[in-house]
Amino acid sequence: MKNYFMRFPEGRTKAVTLSYDDGCRADLRLAETINKYGLKCTFNINSSLMGSNTQDWHLTKEEIAEHLLGTGHEIAVHGALHKAPGMTTIIDGIRDALDGRIGLERAFGGIIKGMAYPNSGIRIFDNGATYNDVKNYLIELGIAYARSLGGDNDCFLMPEDWYNWIPTAHHNNPKIMEYIDEFLKIDVNSEYAGARRPRIFYMWGHAFEFDRNDNWEHLTEICEKLSGNDDIWYATNIEIYNYTKAYRSLEFNVDRTVVYNPTLHTVWFHADGKDYCIKSGATLNI
Ligand SMILES: [Zn+2]
Repeated sequence: MKNYFMRFPEGRTKAVTLSYDDGCRADLRLAETINKYGLKCTFNINSSLMGSNTQDWHLTKEEIAEHLLGTGHEIAVHGALHKAPGMTTIIDGIRDALDGRIGLERAFGGIIKGMAYPNSGIRIFDNGATYNDVKNYLIELGIAYARSLGGDNDCFLMPEDWYNWIPTAHHNNPKIMEYIDEFLKIDVNSEYAGARRPRIFYMWGHAFEFDRNDNWEHLTEICEKLSGNDDIWYATNIEIYNYTKAYRSLEFNVDRTVVYNPTLHTVWFHADGKDYCIKSGATLNI
């Protein structure tokens, strides 16, 4: 029996993704900075707060469309009004997530199905809702994944539960540079055959924190370390979700000698020392 592992597009063993919250003015500088380095970000936007205040803090939908979506980043749900699902009643949680999704889809078109939990998210429950309630209603609302928080994913593993997707670290984590070095050091294909899992480095935060701490050079340093690596796929959260879903939709015979790709993606995988690539609609004998 062979060991099978997903590989990212072009057979890459690792992915890097970012997730930044609240649709603030500093997102423009963040996007401009990471664009120079080819990194991709998911921007989590409160649909009812776009362009909403007089201090010019929230981006307008035109700015988001041009500078964030327009340069290849993802826009994801962050509630219409930034309500924590764990702190609201079930019906208020449903309303904030659904209004958030509708608001973004009407503003930007397309299908918007990613999410980052607003506020304390699913870390505290105080109004009768449980994690299972939240997960179930998000599934019914067509949300594909939801980023959570709580501890660091410094093993760089893919999420086990898409509705509790734990990032590697916040950019202000004192160990962030250590984590990056550790991540870059991993040589996935030379690990023993049963452990060659793909790895992901997932950083989150709020762009306004770079303004507040006057440390934009910290972001530049991080980008310099992470960028330009042939082993790494630079992708948004939803690109990683969609690709992983395609990989997990591959069909195999029992002996795992025949594989069929029923999806619209070209998919890469690794089996006992060899990389394979299977095109949409193709069948491959291994
Ligand atoms: Zn937020």
